[in-house]
Amino acid sequence: MQNGLTDEIARQGPLLEELFATIGKATGDGVGISRDAYGAAETRAGDILAEFCRRHGLSAAYDRAGNLNVTAPGREAAAPDVIIGSHLDSVPRGGNYDGLAGVIAGIGVLLAVQSLGAAPALDLRVLGFRGEESPWFGQAYLGSRLFLGQLGPAEAEAMRRFDTGRSLADHLKALGATANGEGPLLPLDKARAYLELHIEQGPLLESSGDALAVASAIRGNIRYPAARCHGRYAHSAAVPRHLRADALVATARLIAFADAHWQELAEAGRADVVFTCGMLQTDSAEHAMTKVAGEVSFSLNLGGTDAAVMQGFHEAILARAEKLARQHGVRFDLGTRVGTPPTPLHPGLIARMRAAGAQGGGTVPLMPTVGHDAAMFARAGVPTGMILVRNSHGSHNPAEHMDMADFARGVTLLAQSVLAMAAE
Ligand SMILES: [Zn+2]
Repeated sequence: MQNGLTDEIARQGPLLEELFATIGKATGDGVGISRDAYGAAETRAGDILAEFCRRHGLSAAYDRAGNLNVTAPGREAAAPDVIIGSHLDSVPRGGNYDGLAGVIAGIGVLLAVQSLGAAPALDLRVLGFRGEESPWFGQAYLGSRLFLGQLGPAEAEAMRRFDTGRSLADHLKALGATANGEGPLLPLDKARAYLELHIEQGPLLESSGDALAVASAIRGNIRYPAARCHGRYAHSAAVPRHLRADALVATARLIAFADAHWQELAEAGRADVVFTCGMLQTDSAEHAMTKVAGEVSFSLNLGGTDAAVMQGFHEAILARAEKLARQHGVRFDLGTRVGTPPTPLHPGLIARMRAAGAQGGGTVPLMPTVGHDAAMFARAGVPTGMILVRNSHGSHNPAEHMDMADFARGVTLLAQSVLAMAAE
């Protein structure tokens, strides 16, 4: 079975590669890929996949929330045992692999299982979610939340797509879909696993030379998207240091402190923690080279897989902000705190996937990942596991690249993990 599976997935390779190319061509925007959430290009991607599935003997249809569902014929039980999912949409001017790779991987597993005649004693379902990326409606995971019944009509009415100005409810209606907000579209009590393959969105696999990793956990984050430091504008030549309330220097010192704290955590072995200040600006209507900055706006974004470590980091930043406010005579107003808790992935699935990967002789490394639809299933109580595939040039940009040989390894690991569950 092992060799048969590897051979079968290798045989599918050119077919799946062509599928990526066809969808990439149909959803290109001239610069990159734009599969707009609940829009035409996302539907085009779903339609191409559905048509491909039917041509190859699988059943494919959109569910009541507009997500693509693919099943093996005759195995359309209401409650799937294993769900393989990822998303159909992309960010504006994104790449062809973020999301789509996971949906095509699931289809590859169904095809391989089908042609090996290995119909496992499991109901497999592949879900292609819409609306995972946050730029379109300002929130992520819309398709998986709709599938799980966690997004109701009022919320769908209130959300607007940034470019069309239309509500999510309106976009859903145009697709013949609705937001019910009344529990999962399929009962999940029988679901033994939710599995997702996704390109790694960072450079770790590229630098380690590994093709695949199994995700250890999904990072949570603590974020302040609109923090401010209020000081006092003053003449740069006329005001001595001790009479200044320099908002820029105080903010720069706060960010330098956070970076140094992060370095300490990294040196102590906390490879999961990340810190980013992605936005920092003085007021362009007021600032000048010859003025002490009286006002700075900035963002703080820290992430990790351990809530206690994140909380400790967060408290250290708050304490330092207080100290710097006293030293510099400024006031920090961090604004609204947002974020998500870290989401552990299922230890049994992690072990099973790594054991399946070790059949080839190597070890599959473990690493934390970022938010995906998988997080919604894990939080809903479904045992959840993720496989990450090496890709160059990061993600969410037109240069995203995934080697098809790496992809085949990922599909093989996914299929092995599913078959191992069926054999239990
Ligand atoms: Zn993604």
